[in-house]
Amino acid sequence: MKNNKAIIITIGDELLIGQTIDTNSAWMAKRLNELGIDVVRRIAVGDTKEAIVDALDDAIARAAVVLVTGGLGPTADDITKPLLCEYFGGKLVVNEVALENVKTLFIRRNLPMLERNRKQAEVPDNCTVLQNSRGTAPGMWFEKNDAVVVAMPGVPHEMMGMMEKDVLPALQSRVTTDTILHRNILTAGIGESFLAEKIIAVENALPDYIKLAYLPSNWTVKLRLTAKGKNELQLTQEIEQFQQLLKETVGEYVVGTVDEPLESTLQQDFTAQGLTLAIAESCTGGGIGHTLTQVEGSSKFFTGSVVTYDMSVKERILGITAEDISQYGVVSENIAIQMAQRVRDVLHTDIGFGITGWLDKSEEPDKEPGGTVWMAVAGKDKIASRKFVFPYDRQRNKEVAVQMALLMIWKMIHGKAD
Ligand code: AMP
Ligand code: MG
Repeated sequence: MKNNKAIIITIGDELLIGQTIDTNSAWMAKRLNELGIDVVRRIAVGDTKEAIVDALDDAIARAAVVLVTGGLGPTADDITKPLLCEYFGGKLVVNEVALENVKTLFIRRNLPMLERNRKQAEVPDNCTVLQNSRGTAPGMWFEKNDAVVVAMPGVPHEMMGMMEKDVLPALQSRVTTDTILHRNILTAGIGESFLAEKIIAVENALPDYIKLAYLPSNWTVKLRLTAKGKNELQLTQEIEQFQQLLKETVGEYVVGTVDEPLESTLQQDFTAQGLTLAIAESCTGGGIGHTLTQVEGSSKFFTGSVVTYDMSVKERILGITAEDISQYGVVSENIAIQMAQRVRDVLHTDIGFGITGWLDKSEEPDKEPGGTVWMAVAGKDKIASRKFVFPYDRQRNKEVAVQMALLMIWKMIHGKAD
């Protein structure tokens, strides 16, 4: 290959007006990166000839690999196929395997096949056809001037199937590239700038083939080291030394060193320690339970989340008295602690967690402002509580609250609850 670079072009008017979020290119970029191919540009263009040709000309001039998705559907707005056919100087012919595939799909769906569906089996005669086992539009692999151009459907799971089965293996066999390694450190409780100050010496000591990135998200910051080179063994040792050094420097703020979300870490830690968890959620409306159950195997430790949204439910299910609610306020440390303790006792678990807050407007502005959230975690013989005042809108406050909840639970079972 002429170089180690890839450009991804996503096609579709829906991408430009923000109706569809371009998740395809993010997924593809990640997979190419794993093969050691550098994605140098990702562009989205509309379904027009000028825009697509312009993007192709530019991409082919710069990169050895150009991946294209979208515009392969059966409707008039999808123009990618005839356009690519013309661009590479071929003509459309029926591909028998693709035609069989389209017929089979229509029989299975019990629908009559239309002429426009038959057209989906037409492909340029100058490309290698990539069969689509998940849909009707075949993919196309072209080569020109030392560049590979692969066009795939826009439907994400069809594109992914094609990438996994044909495109990535074919690209892998062509690239002789550097090894790329990543190592992560997830931190919480410290902002990005303070973190940067803390690790300045380690950052300065990094060789030029190891890069450090700060990835803040929902009040946590992930530090990601990326090393690139020929000698995998030596590179692994080096990147892990730096990871260790960072871990020691950042100390108490380190939550984990694997590249996975907090809910996965919790699943592993709870299971390893043989502990169980119950939750009483008010303002997050089940969001914590939802997040925990995204992980396979969560039933091993997570018994349930009770959404005690209304005061009456806090009273009836958890036995928190109306007097306490009116005395302390429904968003208060006292109520959060009671929620954590009661749900732990009612559901017979080792750990209980309670959360109550005003996500946007406060109904008791004299007591607590909007965005105030009280959380508490009750362990076997320890209770921790904490107040947050989240400054964002309702949705974002909720997302951050869920992450902070997971973090508090994590701290409790790691003996770091404060
Ligand atoms: P198309 O191949 O252009 O007919 O695309 C089919 C459907 O796939 C579109 O209606 C979108 O919903 C979806 N889609 C297209 N491009 C993307 C993309 N880059 N990321 C995520 N979804 C996409
Ligand atoms: Mg389209």
